[in-house]
Amino acid sequence: MTKAIVCAVAAALSVATLAHAESMQISANGSRPSAKGPDANFTGSVVVDPLYAASADTHNSGGLVSFEPGARSAWHSHPAGQTLIIVSGTGWIQEDGGAKHTVKPGDVIWTPPGLRHWHGATSSNGVSHIAITNVKDGKNVEWQEKVSDAQYLD
Ligand code: MN
Repeated sequence: MTKAIVCAVAAALSVATLAHAESMQISANGSRPSAKGPDANFTGSVVVDPLYAASADTHNSGGLVSFEPGARSAWHSHPAGQTLIIVSGTGWIQEDGGAKHTVKPGDVIWTPPGLRHWHGATSSNGVSHIAITNVKDGKNVEWQEKVSDAQYLD
Protein backbone atom coordinates (compact mmCIF):
# COMPACT_ATOMS: atom_id res chain seq x y z
CA MET A 1 0.00 0.00 0.00
CA THR A 2 1.10 3.51 -0.63
CA LYS A 3 1.44 5.92 2.23
CA ALA A 4 -1.66 7.79 1.00
CA ILE A 5 -3.80 4.66 1.12
CA VAL A 6 -2.55 3.79 4.61
CA CYS A 7 -3.54 7.26 5.76
CA ALA A 8 -6.97 6.96 4.14
CA VAL A 9 -7.58 3.63 5.86
CA ALA A 10 -6.47 5.04 9.18
CA ALA A 11 -8.79 8.02 8.76
CA ALA A 12 -11.72 5.75 7.89
CA LEU A 13 -11.09 3.64 10.99
CA SER A 14 -10.98 6.78 13.11
CA VAL A 15 -14.33 7.97 11.71
CA ALA A 16 -15.82 4.52 12.27
CA THR A 17 -14.71 4.61 15.93
CA LEU A 18 -16.27 8.03 16.46
CA ALA A 19 -19.49 6.92 14.76
CA HIS A 20 -19.90 4.19 17.38
CA ALA A 21 -19.36 6.50 20.37
CA GLU A 22 -22.35 7.94 22.17
CA SER A 23 -23.27 11.53 21.44
CA MET A 24 -23.04 14.39 23.90
CA GLN A 25 -26.23 15.02 25.85
CA ILE A 26 -27.67 18.40 26.78
CA SER A 27 -30.16 18.40 29.64
CA ALA A 28 -31.80 21.80 29.27
CA ASN A 29 -32.36 24.07 32.24
CA GLY A 30 -36.08 24.01 32.99
CA SER A 31 -36.52 20.36 31.96
CA ARG A 32 -35.82 18.99 35.44
CA PRO A 33 -38.49 19.97 37.99
CA SER A 34 -37.46 21.34 41.39
CA ALA A 35 -38.46 19.37 44.45
CA LYS A 36 -38.87 20.28 48.10
CA GLY A 37 -36.32 18.72 50.42
CA PRO A 38 -38.39 16.18 52.37
CA ASP A 39 -39.21 17.02 55.99
CA ALA A 40 -37.90 13.63 57.08
CA ASN A 41 -34.37 14.57 56.00
CA PHE A 42 -34.25 18.37 56.27
CA THR A 43 -35.10 21.11 58.76
CA GLY A 44 -36.53 24.31 57.28
CA SER A 45 -37.14 25.20 53.65
CA VAL A 46 -34.91 23.39 51.16
CA VAL A 47 -35.26 23.16 47.36
CA VAL A 48 -33.48 20.43 45.40
CA ASP A 49 -32.90 21.00 41.69
CA PRO A 50 -31.73 17.73 40.16
CA LEU A 51 -28.86 18.15 37.68
CA TYR A 52 -28.10 14.59 36.58
CA ALA A 53 -28.68 11.04 37.70
CA ALA A 54 -25.94 8.52 38.30
CA SER A 55 -25.06 6.30 35.36
CA ALA A 56 -22.80 3.32 34.75
CA ASP A 57 -20.24 5.83 33.45
CA THR A 58 -20.41 8.53 36.15
CA HIS A 59 -21.15 6.54 39.34
CA ASN A 60 -22.42 9.78 40.92
CA SER A 61 -25.41 12.09 40.78
CA GLY A 62 -25.50 15.88 40.82
CA GLY A 63 -27.97 18.27 42.40
CA LEU A 64 -28.26 21.95 43.27
CA VAL A 65 -29.56 22.29 46.83
CA SER A 66 -30.77 25.65 48.15
CA PHE A 67 -31.36 26.28 51.86
CA GLU A 68 -33.18 29.26 53.39
CA PRO A 69 -31.61 30.79 56.53
CA GLY A 70 -31.81 28.26 59.36
CA ALA A 71 -32.40 25.31 57.04
CA ARG A 72 -30.09 22.30 57.11
CA SER A 73 -29.84 18.62 56.33
CA ALA A 74 -30.29 15.95 58.96
CA TRP A 75 -27.20 14.11 60.15
CA HIS A 76 -26.17 11.65 57.45
CA SER A 77 -23.30 9.86 55.76
CA HIS A 78 -22.50 8.85 52.18
CA PRO A 79 -21.36 5.28 51.52
CA ALA A 80 -19.07 6.41 48.69
CA GLY A 81 -18.45 10.06 49.66
CA GLN A 82 -19.71 13.42 48.46
CA THR A 83 -18.28 16.61 46.98
CA LEU A 84 -20.03 19.91 47.75
CA ILE A 85 -19.38 23.06 45.71
CA ILE A 86 -20.73 26.21 47.34
CA VAL A 87 -22.46 28.31 44.67
CA SER A 88 -24.01 31.22 46.55
CA GLY A 89 -24.70 32.56 50.03
CA THR A 90 -23.08 31.49 53.29
CA GLY A 91 -23.41 28.07 54.85
CA TRP A 92 -22.35 25.89 57.72
CA ILE A 93 -20.98 22.36 57.56
CA GLN A 94 -19.95 20.09 60.40
CA GLU A 95 -18.66 16.57 60.81
CA ASP A 96 -19.53 14.61 63.93
CA GLY A 97 -17.18 15.61 66.74
CA GLY A 98 -15.66 18.44 64.71
CA ALA A 99 -15.99 22.21 64.60
CA LYS A 100 -18.71 23.94 62.61
CA HIS A 101 -17.20 25.59 59.52
CA THR A 102 -18.51 28.57 57.56
CA VAL A 103 -18.41 28.03 53.79
CA LYS A 104 -18.76 30.50 50.94
CA PRO A 105 -19.06 30.48 47.13
CA GLY A 106 -16.17 28.68 45.46
CA ASP A 107 -15.39 26.54 48.49
CA VAL A 108 -15.24 22.81 47.66
CA ILE A 109 -15.82 20.26 50.42
CA TRP A 110 -15.03 16.54 50.18
CA THR A 111 -16.78 14.30 52.71
CA PRO A 112 -15.19 10.84 52.78
CA PRO A 113 -17.25 7.62 52.75
CA GLY A 114 -19.10 6.87 55.99
CA LEU A 115 -18.33 10.16 57.75
CA ARG A 116 -21.33 11.44 59.75
CA HIS A 117 -22.03 15.12 59.00
CA TRP A 118 -24.57 17.79 58.08
CA HIS A 119 -24.64 20.86 55.84
CA GLY A 120 -26.93 23.83 55.40
CA ALA A 121 -27.46 27.56 55.63
CA THR A 122 -26.30 29.76 58.48
CA SER A 123 -28.92 31.09 60.89
CA SER A 124 -28.88 34.46 59.11
CA ASN A 125 -28.13 33.67 55.43
CA GLY A 126 -29.24 31.18 52.82
CA VAL A 127 -26.81 29.00 50.89
CA SER A 128 -26.84 27.00 47.67
CA HIS A 129 -24.46 24.19 46.88
CA ILE A 130 -23.98 21.68 44.11
CA ALA A 131 -23.79 18.19 45.60
CA ILE A 132 -21.96 15.50 43.62
CA THR A 133 -22.76 12.30 45.46
CA ASN A 134 -21.05 9.02 44.69
CA VAL A 135 -23.07 5.82 44.51
CA LYS A 136 -22.10 2.43 45.91
CA ASP A 137 -24.34 -0.62 45.53
CA GLY A 138 -27.18 1.66 44.43
CA LYS A 139 -27.06 3.86 47.57
CA ASN A 140 -25.69 7.38 47.95
CA VAL A 141 -26.85 8.44 51.44
CA GLU A 142 -27.67 7.01 54.86
CA TRP A 143 -30.04 9.40 56.66
CA GLN A 144 -29.92 9.73 60.45
CA GLU A 145 -31.64 11.98 63.02
CA LYS A 146 -32.24 15.68 62.52
CA VAL A 147 -29.77 18.33 63.69
CA SER A 148 -31.28 19.89 66.82
CA ASP A 149 -31.41 23.66 67.27
CA ALA A 150 -28.82 23.33 70.05
CA GLN A 151 -26.44 21.39 67.79
CA TYR A 152 -27.08 23.76 64.88
CA LEU A 153 -26.41 26.93 66.87
CA ASP A 154 -23.53 25.51 68.94
MN1 MN B 1 -23.69 15.23 52.75
